[in-house]
Amino acid sequence: DRMSSVSLKICKMIIIGDVSVGKTSLVNRFCKKAFDKDYKATIGVDFEVERFEILNTPYTLQMWDTAGQERFQCIAAAYYRGAHIVTIVFDVSDINSLASAPKWLEAAQKENKGVEDLLVFLVGTKKDLLTPQAYKEVEQEAIQVANKINAEYWAVSAKTNENVKEFFFRVAGLSFEGT
Ligand code: GDP
Ligand code: MG
Repeated sequence: DRMSSVSLKICKMIIIGDVSVGKTSLVNRFCKKAFDKDYKATIGVDFEVERFEILNTPYTLQMWDTAGQERFQCIAAAYYRGAHIVTIVFDVSDINSLASAPKWLEAAQKENKGVEDLLVFLVGTKKDLLTPQAYKEVEQEAIQVANKINAEYWAVSAKTNENVKEFFFRVAGLSFEGT
């Protein structure tokens, strides 16, 4: 019948991590297809939406970005609530931002109690800032953190666009499977 032919899958992904690690740039690079180094988050816009077609089924990924509240550690509970996917971003050139990752996951889990199948990604951004050798060292630590928090690890650059599309398509593919 008509109803069963309409299949709508929507997933909410929250993007968290320390201030200035590159969260907004990452979302913008994918959603607006541009890298704007002067981008300032617009207050009042809750999320970006990207539509995919997977196995002939429309699929919508909602990407929630903060408007800078993470600086004050006062992200509203509603931001976290109902998330299917948690993307924790850190800056590969700032090792402290990697150390914060478990704390961010805890905050997300606290507002999603009882949700067993939160899909978690750990994303190191600004890969363009490091030499390959320097990056290798960070990567080893990042993989350890990712294993500890049960996250899939990705490294990207919003500046050069390295791995950005690949990352979001991976998110879409994995979260679609789970719905
Ligand atoms: P947010 O606070 O986590 O949302 O971080 P922003 O996206 O606002 O980025 C903070 C700063 O890092 C800005 O000056 C960006 O231009 C810069 N930035 C973001 N992503 C990259 C990247 O991949 N490479 C480089 N070199 N700079 C980046
Ligand atoms: Mg931001």
